[in-house]
Amino acid sequence: MKKAKTNRKLFSLSQNIVSTTIFLDALFLILVMAALAFIYVDQFGDDLPIGIEVLFIVFLGVIALFMTAVALILSKKIHKVLAPIADITSAIEEIKKGNYDIHINIKENNEFKLIGNALNQMSKEIGNQVQLVYKSFAFDSLTGLKNLKTSSQDIDEILFKQDDKMAVCLLEIGNLKSIGVTKGQTVVEELMQKIAERLNIFAGNSDFIFSNSPNEIVFLIQGVRSLERVEADVTKLLELFKEPIDIKNYKVEVHINIGIAIYPSDGKEIATLIKKCDTALFKARESGAGKYTFYNDQLIRDVNYKQQISEQLALAIKNQQLYLKYQPLVDNKNEIYGFEALVRWKSPTLGEISPQIFVANAEESHLIIPIGNWILREACRAQIEMKKRFDKKFVISINVSPVQLMQKDFIDNLRTIIRETEIDPNYLVLEITEGVLIESSLYLDEIIEYLHQIGAKIALDDFGTGYASLTYLKQIPFDNLKIDKSFVDGIFGPKKDHAIIATIVQLVHSLDIKVIAEGVEKRRQYEYLKQIATDVFQGFLFSKPLTLDEAAHYIDQFYKVAKGRRIDVFAGKDFNE
Ligand code: C2E
Ligand code: CA
Ligand code: CA
Repeated sequence: MKKAKTNRKLFSLSQNIVSTTIFLDALFLILVMAALAFIYVDQFGDDLPIGIEVLFIVFLGVIALFMTAVALILSKKIHKVLAPIADITSAIEEIKKGNYDIHINIKENNEFKLIGNALNQMSKEIGNQVQLVYKSFAFDSLTGLKNLKTSSQDIDEILFKQDDKMAVCLLEIGNLKSIGVTKGQTVVEELMQKIAERLNIFAGNSDFIFSNSPNEIVFLIQGVRSLERVEADVTKLLELFKEPIDIKNYKVEVHINIGIAIYPSDGKEIATLIKKCDTALFKARESGAGKYTFYNDQLIRDVNYKQQISEQLALAIKNQQLYLKYQPLVDNKNEIYGFEALVRWKSPTLGEISPQIFVANAEESHLIIPIGNWILREACRAQIEMKKRFDKKFVISINVSPVQLMQKDFIDNLRTIIRETEIDPNYLVLEITEGVLIESSLYLDEIIEYLHQIGAKIALDDFGTGYASLTYLKQIPFDNLKIDKSFVDGIFGPKKDHAIIATIVQLVHSLDIKVIAEGVEKRRQYEYLKQIATDVFQGFLFSKPLTLDEAAHYIDQFYKVAKGRRIDVFAGKDFNE
């Protein structure tokens, strides 16, 4: 404990005031007595003997001396009584500076002792409170882990000062929010505690584990000799979360991803390293739950590229950088069934970008909503244009994103587009993927009912890439089913996909659904698919996606060839394969 320092200045001031007052009192008394003596001498002066005057002056001198002595003694006494004020004021100064570790010790048993004790008590209380507040900042209340933010300085100054290489691992629980929504907040809380517990046991030392945000934990691996070692550790850690965790009556699946950056090669400060972990995490997340990624400079380029895409895409419609291509769909009677509209983007700065990349990006940013509306309108216009040129109606099959379908005004928008373009809805097909069935089942029934009411159709795209498609087929009244290219590729592969496809076609036909095979590139794929009664074919064997003018030319050429020879002409390029 510290003893309060004496504040001499203040003390001597009080001392001066006291002694000056007493001194002035004494002087006043002497003057009064001198005045009385003067009057006395003036009246009786001639009759007084000389000795008395001298005696009187000596007497006055003695009184003056006596009074001065009294003043000195009194001021000493007052000094002693007031001395604790100095201790008290300097203690207050210390508290003001944030030093609550003071102790005033007043010996004299008076009011100052009470004040001193009260101050001691108060500063102790404030100190405790401050400690509590500090703790609530320094530790995560739920998991008891140290907060990364408040520990950053220590990490930089103590941990990172050692020569050791370290791996900074940013662990994210990706599905925490949805766990909260479906199972409740108490499950989330218990889950986070369990995760922290497992990490503590895993690391064997909680000094290197920190809480970063409600669903992020950072842990450091010390003494990194090789990346393989880190990989082994992280893999072991991820194994811990492979099985669902029992909480209350739930079996909770946790989706964990880890982004890793290395000290000092990726950064010398924890804040920089965490940013890099974040970039790596972004990539890990993309590869699915239970994956980790190390930071590298290529990653940052990828992430920047994605950001650039988002920014540029926002201007793409306005600047007319988007356009559609149309890929012919040929039926098993050698007629053109229709076209699938496929969006393209040519950015002046980024070049031609695959729809697989920018559509996913537009879905994340919800830009797919205006873009999707533009695609719908443009594709319907193209259908009308073909009808005008050939006096024939072709089906136009348009991809619709789940994000688009989830919009409450989807039907209204579609209705407006149909009215404005004057397309015959009987020739309109919307392609949706299995993802829609999971994400937006809420509105799907209503949408399909509307489509069927106006005579339009709905197709299930990419069949064979998901899991539960067959169940959905029975529940949802699809009109078309598009067998994914990966399945078509497997027809002659080792996995007996040909037998599976044959069964699927049969089953789908029994549900009164048309089967379209996608990605048909080889003549023998076509022959097999035709043999098992596939209805429509799409693929490079017939044509790549074409611009509207190219499509018109394709149609032109197609009808110039006799029906029986069309396949040989239009799908004849690899006839000998
Ligand atoms: P998807 O709907 O499955 O489209 C078929 C994709 O397969 C197209 O790629 C097409 O060019 C390609 N393809 C067709 N036949 C063959 C073939 O014989 N061999 C090979 N290797 N590929 C073939 P694309 O145009 O790059 O589109 C990729 C994906 O991007 C589409 O897959 C679709 O998911 C999405 N997409 C394209 N256009 C749109 C659109 O207008 N709206 C939305 N929401 N998504 C679109
Ligand atoms: Ca499609
Ligand atoms: Ca497809």
